[in-house]
Order: sequence, then C-alpha cells, then structure tokens
Amino acid sequence: MPIKVELHSHTSDDPFDVIPYSTRDLIDRAARLGYGALAITLHDKQLDVAPFREYASKRGIVLIPGIERTIQGKHVLLINFANGGANVTSFDQLADLKRHDRGLVIAPHPFYPWPACMGSMMDRHAALVDAVEIHGMYAPGAISTRPQCVGRQTREACCGQRRRPSAVTARDDLFPRRG
Ligand SMILES: [Zn+2]
Repeated sequence: MPIKVELHSHTSDDPFDVIPYSTRDLIDRAARLGYGALAITLHDKQLDVAPFREYASKRGIVLIPGIERTIQGKHVLLINFANGGANVTSFDQLADLKRHDRGLVIAPHPFYPWPACMGSMMDRHAALVDAVEIHGMYAPGAISTRPQCVGRQTREACCGQRRRPSAVTARDDLFPRRG
C-alpha cells in the first residue's frame, strides 16, 4: 500500500524562516491529510524528533530525521542520515557523507530562480542527488529555468525548456512553504 510522505517541511522551530505553526501543528495537519511519514527539514538545524515521536506515532505518522542544509550557498535536503549531516558545508563533504552513511539527498526545486537553489550546480553534483523536488507553488515573475525533472537517473532528459511553476502539479496541501 502506498504511503503518503512529506520530505520537505519547516515549523516554528526553524532558526531562519518565520513559520506560524509548531511541529505538533504540522503533525496534526499531516495526520488529517493521511500522511504516513514526515521529515521536518529546518534550515541548518537538525530537529531532535525524539520528543515528538510518540505524539506523531499516536497519529499514525513516522517522523524521519532531516535537515535543509546550506552547502556552498545552496539548499540541499539531507534525509535520514545517521549523523544528520548538520556539519556538512561543502559538496566534497556531502560526497564523503554519502560514502559512509545511508540517507537520501534531495535537491529542493533546483531550477527555481532563487540564489539558494542548486541551479547549474546540479550538473556538477548530479551524482550526489538522489531525488529532485518539484516546486508546485507559483510566485509572480518566477519561472523555472529548466525542467524540474533532472536527477541522477533522468539527467539526460533535460532539454533546456522553460516551464511555468503553475503548470506543475501543485502539492502544497500541507502548509505553504517558503523555501
Ligand atoms: Zn525548505
């Protein structure tokens, strides 16, 4: 049976984003929407999920450790690494982490036109990226500069087309995210 999973989310515990809902609020919301697992990926801070595990479990949610790490100025989601990846500051260190630890590396909306998105660095570091998050939100004037289908497996599929974010299937039914 498929499990609905959210792997990129922020809460009021985030040290950078101002988020108007708590971790428990997010767990409640995810449970109401039928999610089975949730990674809370604060900016550059690994949330200790232990105090929330029981609360989430009673609502049918598995909490997955995660962080949205800033690596050489780019946002990268590090999911379920035993050591968290909180100390990773370069893509060389990320490669080393992947060699020694099992976890998932996700490029959050890499071709959205924000400086913190990976953009052209995807070409150099595609081998480190396990998955790509498609950005389903629309911001006026913001047009993704390449199809958001580029990952380790589908890199060759990139053809330089432009795509409006509004044309991508929206998946923002938890809470709106801000990056
Ligand atoms: Zn984020």
